[in-house]
Amino acid sequence: MKPKYTSLRGVRDILPEEVKSWRRIEDKARELFRRYNYKEIETPIIEPAEMFVRTVGEESDIVRKEMYVFKDRGDRLVALRPEGTAPVVRAFLENNLYVPGKVAKFYYIGDMFRYDRPQAGRQREFHQIGIEALGESSYILDVEVIILLLEFFKELGLNDTILLLNSVGCPKCRSEYSKALREFFTPYLDELCEDCKVRLENNPLRILDCKVEGCKRVVVKAPSILDYLCNDCRVHFENVRSVLDSLDVRYILDTRLVRGLDYYTKTTFEVTVSGLDLSIGGGGRYDGLIKDLGGPDLPGIGFAIGMERLVNILRDRGLLIEEEDVPDYFIIYDVILVTKAIMLSKLLRDQGFIVEISYTAKNLKSQLKEADRSKAKKSIIMREDLLANDKVILKDMTTGEQEEIGLDKLEVSIIGERV
Ligand SMILES: [Zn+2]
Ligand SMILES: [Zn+2]
Repeated sequence: MKPKYTSLRGVRDILPEEVKSWRRIEDKARELFRRYNYKEIETPIIEPAEMFVRTVGEESDIVRKEMYVFKDRGDRLVALRPEGTAPVVRAFLENNLYVPGKVAKFYYIGDMFRYDRPQAGRQREFHQIGIEALGESSYILDVEVIILLLEFFKELGLNDTILLLNSVGCPKCRSEYSKALREFFTPYLDELCEDCKVRLENNPLRILDCKVEGCKRVVVKAPSILDYLCNDCRVHFENVRSVLDSLDVRYILDTRLVRGLDYYTKTTFEVTVSGLDLSIGGGGRYDGLIKDLGGPDLPGIGFAIGMERLVNILRDRGLLIEEEDVPDYFIIYDVILVTKAIMLSKLLRDQGFIVEISYTAKNLKSQLKEADRSKAKKSIIMREDLLANDKVILKDMTTGEQEEIGLDKLEVSIIGERV
């Protein structure tokens, strides 16, 4: 069938069979996050565009090229959320959820929007599972958040995750580092892409995660941020690493891991699996973000997991459970018994069975074909002559075997029920 309209480029339908496997992943996340005392939050899909310009960064790819921005009918500049952290922080502040001395822990599951070039595992509407922990600066929280992320993948059966770890420092050490990067990159100006030439002026750190080959070649030789960390940031990162080491959590130090958003500070991390060039989850600290959104000067940390990529990997590895529910019973009946049939279907459904019923009530033979098409496990055939003696036929649709049984054997009773 060719419909009159098809979905837009970069968005897609998640069909029933797939939705079920998605829900299973989400349930796993909910169950795991609950044990770490995170509470679920849902924020709107639309937010003031200005909020992301401020937090994600004016020079970031997200704001410059990818954000869906439009004016609503009230002439407000609105964005479809490109990420989940700023909305959660905004909600935290707007609803006065801050309790001094208490870490506020949230998680969200929802869709995000970025006008990116669609490719495998990268859609314009994409889905994220994320957490945010607000109000605690201790490295112990960093470690816990990283462990939680790894644990999630492990519970899904991914045993070959690779953790990439870095620190991007604080504004203080970053301004030193930016200076060093500018000095380093200036002689290579001609080898940098057009975007990076702009970045060199505005935000040289951004050059480090440029995907253009020429830039990547230069970046290899660039100075490491770890040599520019201030004392506070250095000690913090050493603590994170030393606890991960003692817990035997292995990681690769990746000093080019600056993430695509401006608000990150100190610890940043990403998780991938062997053989994959993309991350399936990542995050970091954002100690200036809450203040930046008009709140108190509180630290924060979080991560987000990309559902599309995760689902692809799980499917590739045979770890995705994709099965459709089929009816437990299909009810077939003589047309005169329609009321009884509807009643029986309701009683069985009340008991939790998946029940399908013939809506055409043609002859019994054509109803049996319907039952076949429905893939039901069993059929209940209600024939007038048998029902007079409170009996029905129960047919096993796999083996084809059938038997006359008393209605009382069905574990539901329509005996004595009269409509
Ligand atoms: Zn610092
Ligand atoms: Zn570049």
